[in-house]
Parts: sequence; structure tokens; C-alpha cells
Amino acid sequence: MRQPERPRLALTAVAQSTVAGVLAAGMRAVDATVGNGHDTLFLARKVSPGGQVIGFDVQPAAIDATRRRLDAAGLGGAVELRLAGHQHLSDALPNEWQGSAAAVMFNLGYLPGGDKRLVTRPDTTLHALDGASRVLGPAGLLSVIVYPHHPGGQAEAEAVAQWTSSRPAGWSVQQRTSPGPVLYLIRRDRNADRDS
Ligand code: SAM
Repeated sequence: MRQPERPRLALTAVAQSTVAGVLAAGMRAVDATVGNGHDTLFLARKVSPGGQVIGFDVQPAAIDATRRRLDAAGLGGAVELRLAGHQHLSDALPNEWQGSAAAVMFNLGYLPGGDKRLVTRPDTTLHALDGASRVLGPAGLLSVIVYPHHPGGQAEAEAVAQWTSSRPAGWSVQQRTSPGPVLYLIRRDRNADRDS
């Protein structure tokens, strides 16, 4: 007899539930693609009280929407939002953040409901992933959702796949594929070297 299909969990939900496993109050986390602020709010909830989230986006509309979302939840104080590209992630973060973040989240592509030309791009995404791997602390988790079927998405998906497959020893990568997006969960082992 045919088994009933289990409902498919959105990869954004899988990313959040996995990241939740490495977060606790007082920790540091980064949202590398703030967008409408769903992940930023999730991170802020998980690290509060006492923790800090820093978020990046290139669109003022994304920063404004996220600020409103955080303020409505009473979590504005836990988050610093930067109107800047995530390719500057590592340089833009305070020194004490290097090697200390528990999680960094990327949800690549364009802002839902926004200008689809303002999309993440392979070269800046790769810079950002390098920066994120420097910021990540021992046993930290990097989540990356990439959309191969968006215009330009295939090249970005290939670049991300290549980057994940060249992680040095001490890093592990899990991949979840859906009919559309692909989720990578990349862990830095407790004793792994950071990227130089
Ligand atoms: N995580 C978001 C959420 O929960 O609502 C969704 C993110 S959306 C799919 C992708 C975002 O990446 C867009 O808001 C876009 O402006 C942003 N983006 C594009 N290029 C960027 C860059 N170089 N640095 C940071 N963000 C960028």
C-alpha cells in the first residue's frame, strides 16, 4: 500500500530549526541577507536576552521592514542592522566577533515582493561565505539557501556548491535539496581551524 506523503517542510523552516540547535541566550549570530527580517527576528529571539545579532542587506526597504518587525516584537535592542553588502561581513564586524558567532544565516536571491534586479551574486556571495567562515566560532553553524532556478541563480548555485565542497578538514557539510532551492548546513567542528 502506498504510504501517505509526509508534508514537505520548507527549507527556510529546516534552516531555522537546525540553527536553533546551536543558539542560546547570550550568543552572537549574523543574518547575512536580512530581507523582510524573518530570519533576523528568529535569531534575535534565540539569542535574547543578552545576545547580539548583526544583519546585512543592500536595500533600505529591507532594513526598514526588518527594523519595524523587530521593534514590534520588542527586540530592536538585540539587533544591529547594516545597510551594506555581506561581502564586507568579516571586515565590518567588530574584532571580538571574529571566531565567535554561533550561527550565520544566508537566504540568497532577491527580496520577495521587491526589485528582482537587486539579487545576490556569485562573486559577492563567495566573499561573504569566506567572511562568514572567519566569523563563525567553534561548533558554529552556517546555513545557506540558494535558488538555482532564479535568473542568474544557476551560476550562484554552482559557485556555492564548489565553495562547500572545498571546505578544509574539520568542517562538515549537509545538503538538503527540494524541487527548487538547495539548503547547505555547514558546521565548523569544535577544533577546526578557521579560514585564514
Ligand atoms: N532572510 C530573509 C527573510 O527572512 O526575510 C530573506 C532574504 S531575501 C531571499 C535575499 C536578500 O538578499 C534581499 O533582501 C536582497 O536585498 C539581499 N541582498 C542582495 N545582495 C546582497 C548583498 N550583497 N549583501 C547583503 N544582502 C544582499
